[in-house]
Amino acid sequence: MSASAFQFDNSYARDLPGFSVPWQPASVPAPNLLFFNRELALELGLDPDLLDGPDCAAIFAGNRVPEGAEPLAQAYAGHQFGGFSPQLGDGRALLLGEVIDRRGARRDIMLKGSGPTPFSRRGDGRAAVGPMLREVLIGEAMHALGIPTTRALAVAATGETVHRERPLPGAVLTRVAASHLRVGTFEYFRARRDTDRVRLLADYAIARHDPDLAGTEDRYLALLRRVAQRQATLVAGWMNVGFIHGVLNTDNVALSGETIDYGPCAFLETYNPDAVFSSIDHGGRYAYRNQPAVTRWNLARLAETLLPLIAGQDSEAAATRATEQATGVIDDFQAWYETALLSGQRAKLGLQGGDDASDRTLAEDWLTLLEAQRVDFTLGWRRLADAADGNEGPLRALFADPQALDGWLARWQSRGDSEGRSAADGHARANRMRGVNPAVIPRNHRVEEALAAASDHGDLGPFRRLLAAIVRPYEETPEHAAYLEPARAEVTACYRTF
Ligand code: AMP
Ligand code: MG
Ligand code: MG
Repeated sequence: MSASAFQFDNSYARDLPGFSVPWQPASVPAPNLLFFNRELALELGLDPDLLDGPDCAAIFAGNRVPEGAEPLAQAYAGHQFGGFSPQLGDGRALLLGEVIDRRGARRDIMLKGSGPTPFSRRGDGRAAVGPMLREVLIGEAMHALGIPTTRALAVAATGETVHRERPLPGAVLTRVAASHLRVGTFEYFRARRDTDRVRLLADYAIARHDPDLAGTEDRYLALLRRVAQRQATLVAGWMNVGFIHGVLNTDNVALSGETIDYGPCAFLETYNPDAVFSSIDHGGRYAYRNQPAVTRWNLARLAETLLPLIAGQDSEAAATRATEQATGVIDDFQAWYETALLSGQRAKLGLQGGDDASDRTLAEDWLTLLEAQRVDFTLGWRRLADAADGNEGPLRALFADPQALDGWLARWQSRGDSEGRSAADGHARANRMRGVNPAVIPRNHRVEEALAAASDHGDLGPFRRLLAAIVRPYEETPEHAAYLEPARAEVTACYRTF
């Protein structure tokens, strides 16, 4: 193992003193590499042959801190299910450092499950094999679907037992992120009335994610706008693939616009906008349909932290103006979200340009049909592509009452005809649709099956096969056939991820 496999350049440690606590990962008894992401290692400019050897288990389990790393636990706060916790922080994670990837982008390298830190509160600082492999699967699926996300570089088993509802094998995940700046990071310093540090943090965020804004006069308002626009795109992406994050607390909202912190998340199967998979989300706060509204709420919490910076000076008039400007951005979120959602829906419907209002109605009516007919969300869209090719049978077979589809299908077809009515046009449309409507998503029963085999029996076969399928989500090959179908409805109905 070469000590120089990572070329660290640690701006968080260097530029933001007082925002974290230097800390070392815990040593574990038996590091064993369960997963290594060679493609991501190449993207990061790491030498995978250096990293993919037997020694690297020691690094990815936290036993050996690679040269140049400056491990630290980041401070952050957060609104959890609406209530404010002034101190959360990395209770079981450590930022090892940052690398510059092959495209020149700065990426965080973080260990998760690497032992207790000063932010652990009552937690044990550990993670279990199952949930860490789940983070690999869902993150890689999101990446393959073109949705911004943190990604897993490695998972190493620790040889330790972690105690949850039952004893489980322990693991450490290595997570790669554009940054780990969260809405909750800003809230931490606002809660301490430390406006100077909020400003330092905002300037750091600008340098890292929106460098074109650096030094401009209205940069803090512009930063808020950029973050809101990225979140609008992100949530629209989630909605269009049927993803439910599950814990949209402000500490799980990244300024980068990446999906972060895969806990009780899941993909919709039967289309039900009220779907909740997390057993701790009693009120359905983070239900599928609430994700845009809750994101807007989270952005308002970010806006509050930035108000003194937006105001610039300490006068009542400046404060009033800053509040108006920030409120304007939060109000604009809805329109940005709807635009992003419609652009995704239009592609999923195989359409290109057109009248926004009528296309939006067309998409909404389709979703209403899927809901009324209890159609599988992913298969419904996928089989619509077949219908564009003149093959309506597989689509109709998904509907309890196929006749209910007739009226809508005729509208969609005539709308499609307006962009080209020949068989060749239909075929081209179908192919475009197959490039945006996935066949393979990480089906809940498949994920559970893979995690149980790995966690209970040390068998990584189902995990590897599932991963190989979900990283090619648009391919409907014979090898993928087993991953297309949902579980039987009675299994799905009571599915809980957490
Ligand atoms: P999450 O619900 O994953 O967003 O985590 C919320 C907070 O709980 C964060 O501060 C985490 O670091 C902390 N946390 C979660 N699990 C553990 C654990 N096993 N040990 C210590 N802290 C934890
Ligand atoms: Mg979190
Ligand atoms: Mg978590």
